[in-house]
Amino acid sequence: MLEYNSLNEECGVFGVWDHPEAAQLAYMGLHSLQHRGQEGAGIICSDNDRLVGERGLGLLTEAITPEQMEHLEPYQHAIGHVRYATSGAKGIENIQPFLYHFYDTSIAVGHNGNFINAERLRRELEQQGAIFHSSSDTEVIIHLIRRSKQPTFEEALIESLNQIKGGFTFSILTKDALYGAVDPNAIRPLAIGKLPNGSYMLASETCAIDVLGGEFVRDIHAGEYVVINDDGMRVERYTDETNTAISAMEYIYFARPDSTIAGKNVHAVRKQTGKRLAEESPVENADMVIGVPNSSLSAASGYAEAAHLPYEMGLVKNQYVARTFIQPTQALRDQGVRVKLSAVKGIVNGKNIVLVDDSIVRGTTSKRIVKMLKEAGANEVHVRIASPEFMFPSFYGIDVSTTAELISANYSPEEISEQIGADSLAYLSVDGLIDSIDLDVDAPYGGLCVESFTGDYPAGLYDYEANYEANLSKRQRAYIDEHPQYFDREGHRHV
Ligand code: AMP
Repeated sequence: MLEYNSLNEECGVFGVWDHPEAAQLAYMGLHSLQHRGQEGAGIICSDNDRLVGERGLGLLTEAITPEQMEHLEPYQHAIGHVRYATSGAKGIENIQPFLYHFYDTSIAVGHNGNFINAERLRRELEQQGAIFHSSSDTEVIIHLIRRSKQPTFEEALIESLNQIKGGFTFSILTKDALYGAVDPNAIRPLAIGKLPNGSYMLASETCAIDVLGGEFVRDIHAGEYVVINDDGMRVERYTDETNTAISAMEYIYFARPDSTIAGKNVHAVRKQTGKRLAEESPVENADMVIGVPNSSLSAASGYAEAAHLPYEMGLVKNQYVARTFIQPTQALRDQGVRVKLSAVKGIVNGKNIVLVDDSIVRGTTSKRIVKMLKEAGANEVHVRIASPEFMFPSFYGIDVSTTAELISANYSPEEISEQIGADSLAYLSVDGLIDSIDLDVDAPYGGLCVESFTGDYPAGLYDYEANYEANLSKRQRAYIDEHPQYFDREGHRHV
């Protein structure tokens, strides 16, 4: 059976070329991308001759020590990576960027996303004699590049990029250049920035460019790659078979509110989803709107504004709980020890509350929070979700890849409302989401990848197809039957 847990899910990548403090910039850039991955971090540097790297487990500040940074000080070029904690293998050997030394060159690769044809490519490569050291799909691209008969690295990269499918971005460092690449649907984002001294940068999100005092140059679009070297910066296409479908989950949950993707600021989009949600699913006799910190605060403020209700801080999040924090025992949890979130009793007591969250995946968060608010004295809790029902797994790098873990794959909003103990539950419509993001892109779904809400997979399913089909739930099948419009376009999925 296919191993569903990719090692390179929703991560953050960074790159900078030709700067006297390249490693330090990579460190700062990665720090601003920390929300994209807390399991580990790495930086690889070069000086047009040697490639060296440092990496470690945990948050950036734990992963890379001042001593390790000192080691990287003399180098002018750097790429960096923060890794998302998936249930995949957790050892240091999986912390990127990966560095490969060959007799004639060295290549470092940092990767965000998931290849959906990694299994079959790997099988083909193994049949040709390739030996893999890890279960990471990143190794696949290195094998493809090294086995290519193309005369230059750039041509080998183009050939390799044309063989991989899915949602992905890369930052690649060689002795001669820094490369960035984006999948043919631009599912995962990658932006180019420029520092005041003229050095170019690559970053998964524009917030990294901003915090370094850089200027945004452009996003790398579907099917494009960029070469940054001593001659400057050049963007090229590796394929013309593109169909822009930017991950809606970047806007809904992953990206930092100050980032801008395809010209749309993430906070502004989230606020708009909240406004639209208030129009689509109002709550009668509500006293206030509360957002689940942090990712839902923008949407909650939009809901409150549109509904003319006070926006209150009814929940407080301890900002210092890293993933490595020791969790309380079950006995302490039963006793009510809450590490991450607390309800503000004086605010919620006796009130009718609209609780806005960005998404429901398994349903555990909503259930916990509704209970917490009720225990704090809330009268009614009406849950409003600023994205559509998360009905279908995603295979493009957001670590939600099995139907079994999706509550909406099996239960209706009414059933979920009851399960989480809410007084009502409603979701944003698919059209509401697309209108709220409002990309200036002429493509299906307004240029967005909304596969988790529609079951329409813009990059196909490849290795995952058989398993996906076999595991479709009754509710998913019914949804597909009721929405033929999602499955009848050329190049799109037919079930
Ligand atoms: P759940 O508790 O499983 O229903 O997860 C929903 C919560 O997790 C929401 O509050 C989201 O902010 C957050 N979330 C949404 N998508 C993801 C994801 N891919 N990985 C981690 N957390 C997520």
